[in-house]
Amino acid sequence: MNFHQTSRAEAAPGQKTIALLRERDLSLPVTTIHGNRPGPRVLLTAGIHGCEYCSIQAAIELASELDQDVVAGRLTIVHLANASGFSERLSEIVAEDGKNLNRVFPGRDDGSQAERLAHLITSLQDDADFYVDMHGGDLHESMHPLVFIPGVAEKRITDRAREAAKVLDVDVRVLSSATTGAYNSAALRGVPSLLIERGGNGVWSRAEVDAYKRDIRALLAHLQL
Ligand SMILES: [Zn+2]
Repeated sequence: MNFHQTSRAEAAPGQKTIALLRERDLSLPVTTIHGNRPGPRVLLTAGIHGCEYCSIQAAIELASELDQDVVAGRLTIVHLANASGFSERLSEIVAEDGKNLNRVFPGRDDGSQAERLAHLITSLQDDADFYVDMHGGDLHESMHPLVFIPGVAEKRITDRAREAAKVLDVDVRVLSSATTGAYNSAALRGVPSLLIERGGNGVWSRAEVDAYKRDIRALLAHLQL
C-alpha cells in the first residue's frame, strides 16, 4: 500500500485518501473516506495495543473495502496506532517509552512517545461525532467478544453509545465506570464512543475478522441513518 504524507487527516467530499499522518517524528497510517452523502464524522482506531491482530486486520480490510459510495459523512480509520509495539511484538506497551498507550489519554504534546501519540489521536477524536476503539485479547489473553460503553460521561453521551452498542453481534455489553482509556477520554470530552474486544492470543482468524467487520458495518449503518 502506498502512503502519501500529510499533516491533516482529511479528504475532499466524494474522495478517499490513504496517508501517513505526520506530526514531527510520529506517523499514523490513516484512511479518510469522505462520502458522497452527508452524515456523521466517525473515527475508528485499531492497534492501540499492537498485538491485538484481529482488530488491526479488520481495520485494514475495512479501509480497503469501504468507499465514498458506501460511507455517508466522513469515516477516518487509523489502521495501527502503536506501530512500535506491533513491530517489536510487545504486549500492551509502546516500545519507545514502555507506556500503555491506552492509559495515557488525552496525552500531552510535549510528553513521551505514548503521550504524544495519545495527544495526536485525541485531536482526531475531537474532530469526530462518534469514536470506536478496536481491541481484542492481547498476546496471551483469550477474549470473549464484548463491548465497553462509557458510563461516566454525560447521560446523553452514554445513551448514544448504549444505543449504538445494541447493533453489535456480541452478547456481553459492559457499562464501564472507568475514566481511563482512549474511549472514556473521548466520551468525557463529549464524543460518544465504544471499545470493542474481539479475538486474542496473538492470532487472528478469517471468521473473527469477518465478524469484526460485520460489527463495524452494522455500527456505521446505525450511525449514518
Ligand atoms: Zn487492547
